[in-house]
Amino acid sequence: MSTTTRTNPLSYLTDQMNELKAKGTHFRLRVLEDEQEAVCTFDGKKVINLASNNYLGLTTHPKLREAALEATKKYGVGSGAVRTIAGTMRIHMELEEKIARFKNVEACVVFQSGFAANAGTVSAILGKEDFIISDELNHASIIDGARLSRAKILVFRHKDVAHAEEQLASIKDQPGKKLVISDGVFSMDGDIGPLPGLCDAAEKYGAIMMVDDAHSSGVLGRNGRGTIDHFNVHGRVDVQVGTLSKAIGALGGYVCGSKDLIDFLYHRARPFLFSTSHPPSVAATCIAAFDVLEQEPERIEKLWENTRFFKKELGLIGFNIGGQNTPASETPITPIIVGEGRLAMQFSRELFDEGIMATGIAFPTVAEGKARIRTIMTATHTHDQLTQALQMLKRVGKRLGIVN
Ligand SMILES: *Cc1c(COP(=O)(O)O)cnc(C)c1O
Repeated sequence: MSTTTRTNPLSYLTDQMNELKAKGTHFRLRVLEDEQEAVCTFDGKKVINLASNNYLGLTTHPKLREAALEATKKYGVGSGAVRTIAGTMRIHMELEEKIARFKNVEACVVFQSGFAANAGTVSAILGKEDFIISDELNHASIIDGARLSRAKILVFRHKDVAHAEEQLASIKDQPGKKLVISDGVFSMDGDIGPLPGLCDAAEKYGAIMMVDDAHSSGVLGRNGRGTIDHFNVHGRVDVQVGTLSKAIGALGGYVCGSKDLIDFLYHRARPFLFSTSHPPSVAATCIAAFDVLEQEPERIEKLWENTRFFKKELGLIGFNIGGQNTPASETPITPIIVGEGRLAMQFSRELFDEGIMATGIAFPTVAEGKARIRTIMTATHTHDQLTQALQMLKRVGKRLGIVN
């Protein structure tokens, strides 16, 4: 064994973390001690939870819990291989068939996460001769997929259909394939992508149309069928991505489309080929979740009722909830924009001490000067809990000079 003292080659990471600490945007992970619920315990403190993506309260739904336990008893805890080797279980196929029927498309492939679905799909269907026309606020997994594909990336201004069309026009004589891609619901601002206009533009220029419905699955459209259903653009979106990790309450992502698209992804999407499939309990949970979407539509109604109430009251308190220099939320995601990263983090910390879990989000996740806390409604928040949360938000907001 060598006795010479070794200098730490990772010390530059420590320097960077020290910089974050000096800027006030360094964070510690908050640890959940019980279940992901409207009121739960983080770091030993009981708080009203405004931070989860558990829109419909499905993380603890008795039918989903039962399905997971049952599948574990019957099929064990793991799949033992990637899908293409020996890790395709009957229950994986059942889930894909179930989602395809729900979305009224030919076929579906499930990935380990929404991130893997986006990154794996974009990088598989395009190559370096091709073009991606992408909204500037699209999710990181789309951006990573675009980079991995080595296609040329043309960014259009947020939700600006005319700019997307300009980008398409600028490459109309180039031989490569073109892909127009947008989030269905944007995760930091809660606004909805302009799908009808983007579909028109894509059709005009013969481009492929792709939508990432992570925050719209289970939230928008009939029984939570997503933005394609919300806008009634059925048959006009070639690649529909959704997540099983948010409203669905478990974990995973999926791509819906034609039989040939899905067959191609079975053969070429790298996370599908090189990473092990879900445990059977996860597949069973998701199957049960789609039954709940069909059988308990009142959950989605309650989610929207809570959303309308909470947004209105936040506005009345005087918070900047978007709409001036920032997009205006139209969904259960409501940002409270405060500007400086340090202030957003302090706001989040003091809210926690008061009894609210609401995460501070700063650069680089959102633009410099647009730091915020992000609140997310769920169907399971009671009116009482929301009234309490609003009082706490008002108290802390006043104390920090965020509202008058
Ligand atoms: C959360 C999210 C994803 C990733 O989904 P996971 O299933 O959590 O990996 C992809 N796209 C968007 C827009 C998201 O908000």
